[in-house]
Amino acid sequence: MHPDQTKRITGRAIRRTVLELAARDGNRCALCGGPIDLDLAGTDPDGPTLEHRIPIALGGTNDADNLALAHHVCNARRGKRNPTQLGRQSRQW
Ligand SMILES: [Zn+2]
Repeated sequence: MHPDQTKRITGRAIRRTVLELAARDGNRCALCGGPIDLDLAGTDPDGPTLEHRIPIALGGTNDADNLALAHHVCNARRGKRNPTQLGRQSRQW
C-alpha cells in the first residue's frame, strides 16, 4: 500500500474526510440541514457525500475548509445550479 498522492479524493480518503467533517460540523447536510446517517454508503441517496463550498471548477480545493457534508441526493440535485435556484428548490421538498 502506498499513500494516494493524487489531488482527487478517493475511497478511503473520502470516508476519513466524512468522519472529520462530521466531528467538526456535526452530521448534518450542508444543503438541506437534515441529519445524515454516516453508516450509509456514499452511493446511497441518503448517504454522506462531500460537498465543495467553492466548486473545484471555480478554483475550490479539496481542503477540509472548502468541504462540508451533504446527502448524496442533495448534492446530486444541486448539480451545477446556482445557490439562488437551490434556495428556491429546497422549499419544495
Ligand atoms: Zn440534504
